[in-house]
Amino acid sequence: MAKIALVTGANKGIGLETARQLAKGGIHVILAARDGAKGTAAAQKLKGEELDVEALTLDVSDPVSIAAAVKQVGAKHGRLDILINNAGIGIDEHAKKVSEQTMETWRKTFDTNVFGLIAVTQAFLPLLAKSEAGRIVNLTSILGSLTLHADPKSPIYNYKVPAYNVSKTAVNAWTLQLAYELRDSKMKVNAVHPGHVKTDMGGVAAPMEVVDGAKTGVAMALIGADGPNGSYTHLGRTLPW
Ligand code: NAP
Repeated sequence: MAKIALVTGANKGIGLETARQLAKGGIHVILAARDGAKGTAAAQKLKGEELDVEALTLDVSDPVSIAAAVKQVGAKHGRLDILINNAGIGIDEHAKKVSEQTMETWRKTFDTNVFGLIAVTQAFLPLLAKSEAGRIVNLTSILGSLTLHADPKSPIYNYKVPAYNVSKTAVNAWTLQLAYELRDSKMKVNAVHPGHVKTDMGGVAAPMEVVDGAKTGVAMALIGADGPNGSYTHLGRTLPW
């Protein structure tokens, strides 16, 4: 029986490529997108590559949408083996100082990147618990590392994009909290930094191709019982919290 994975924000970028790589590995992938038409178009594209995928409408910042998505997956599949929390936004205004980002920016960023991720995870946990080995992968960023932000010599020291960065620090913290709850279960949760990837978010000048940007999350989705729980990694290397 094929494993079933759900990827949020799967209509483009790292999410779409993650869906492609998981499906290439023989997994049935549910491409979740907040815009149903974009999700369907992305699924059509992968179906054209002979991959076993389906589309699902899911806005991670909308509790009604989350509940409907869980109901649909439950009715159709009865379980979920892999949840990739990939959907994310970065809306800080680069022309503004750290102290000048608006509260609207902070709230919107947290609604999607943090509260949306937690709400989706909470809602799908009962279906993940029905899996032989439920796996949750949270797309975070190296920009969420407090250790590196505090070190003037670190490569990210000057990347102070506060609402985005702090939202990813919160994702890291939540990953550890949930990992504690799951420690004696069949489920595992891990945080991954994809790299600086050429996507709409990462920009055209980013050094990594999207095919490589999906690799860390895909690998973490496929870990066995001996794999980590509560880790923060990039391409197999542990990052400092
Ligand atoms: P992207 O190309 O901008 O794609 C983001 C995806 O998230 C899109 O599908 C977008 O949907 C979706 N999304 C945004 N808000 C949503 C919501 N409320 N509900 C459902 N979906 C929503 O970004 P990316 O570069 O692929 O990033 C994917 C993840 O990797 C993000 O969590 C990001 O923070 C993380 N990351 C990226 C980089 C990088 O260099 N690219 C580096 C570190 C971490 P729409 O198309 O409808 O907007």
